[in-house]
Amino acid sequence: MSKLKLALVAHDACKPKLVEWASNHRDFLLETRIIATGTTGERLKEAIPALDITACKSGPLGGDQQIGAMICEGRLDGLIFFIDSLSPMPHDVDVKALTRLAIVYNLPFACNEATADCIIHEFQRNA
Ligand code: PGA
Repeated sequence: MSKLKLALVAHDACKPKLVEWASNHRDFLLETRIIATGTTGERLKEAIPALDITACKSGPLGGDQQIGAMICEGRLDGLIFFIDSLSPMPHDVDVKALTRLAIVYNLPFACNEATADCIIHEFQRNA
């Protein structure tokens, strides 16, 4: 069976939360192919060097759009996107485009830890 492919993205203020979440799900993520935006990928790799991470460009430089394209092409099984809802984003249009595509393509999509936990538990239950 091929590995699950999950995209992980976190805005700067949320990166520590995503790293903590990933550490809590380390064993599961070690069996998963991870696609991440540039800086998120770097943080995850620093925290858990054994992760299988493909890094896209940084989100504001097109990484969100690269992940959006993968959603359109049916190449992802889920998106974990920790969005900073308290700060204005210069690349707000990219954030909207990415979340919109996750909705349009009915992709399992979490933007907080509680929902991300539910998605992981569901994947584990179906493994
Ligand atoms: P980053 O991008 O991981 O490169 O910081 C995240 C984003 O802002 O979409």
